[in-house]
Amino acid sequence: MNIQQILRQASTQLTGVSDSPQLDAEILLAHALQKSRTFLFTWPQHEIDETTQKQFEHYLAQRITGKPVAYITGEREFWSLKLQVTTDTLIPRPETELLVEQALRLLPGTEIRIADLGTGSGAIALALASERPQWHITATDKSAAALAIARNNALNLGITNIEFLLGEWFKPLPQKQFHAIVSNPPYIADDDAHLSQGDVRFEPVSALTSGGDGLTALRHIAHHARPYLLAGGLLMVEHGYNQMQSVYKIFQDNGYTNITMFTDLGGNPRLTLGYSP
Ligand code: GLN
Repeated sequence: MNIQQILRQASTQLTGVSDSPQLDAEILLAHALQKSRTFLFTWPQHEIDETTQKQFEHYLAQRITGKPVAYITGEREFWSLKLQVTTDTLIPRPETELLVEQALRLLPGTEIRIADLGTGSGAIALALASERPQWHITATDKSAAALAIARNNALNLGITNIEFLLGEWFKPLPQKQFHAIVSNPPYIADDDAHLSQGDVRFEPVSALTSGGDGLTALRHIAHHARPYLLAGGLLMVEHGYNQMQSVYKIFQDNGYTNITMFTDLGGNPRLTLGYSP
């Protein structure tokens, strides 16, 4: 079979299993071929050899069981950086690029100190570090397995301005003088049906929900961040589309000023920031 035929067949098999059957088939075939997706569009008549076909069928079978594409290929792009991901880390979401974008827009290009709490695969820290080599970034995670992935990603990308520390939220931070603290914490409510559907089922539960109404981690971070921030320091968190008012109130109750919210490309409230007075 050639590329075009194999893709057509696979995309039919994935219909109903995935929301993006064609795209999934393309990513998996490109991965089996060790080529880019552009190669597939350029050479639709290219015949697939047997070894590659077997490899692709193996990937496809995993996808049919529901396993996310990123966990099959072991990688996901975030902010144009190719990141290694495993089932120990959340798969970076495009909406999280909003946090990166706003941090780059709002923070000075000088040698400031930033903490990324619950870094997972390191997506946020790595994106910021790649854009601002002069920033000193500290990334924490309570999962040693996730932190190992994040460290490895930094190594692969040649990024050297991040210090990775093992521990929950603020606990491993050596000092308290940060210009900004950023985080994409777990924020899904523990009874949210979303947790038992689709790709999310394969992701680490601890990266998705902190229990109860989904605001536990956000409350903890907003409450404890104040003493870790310099006067005028920025706190910026990602949250659920339906948590805008709750997060606003949490920030207000903890004394942050100039609280501002941003919506993602899907039009959902997704990001809240405030300043330490
Ligand atoms: N945005 C993710 C989702 O809805 C959740 C990520 C998180 O909890 N930080 O699947």
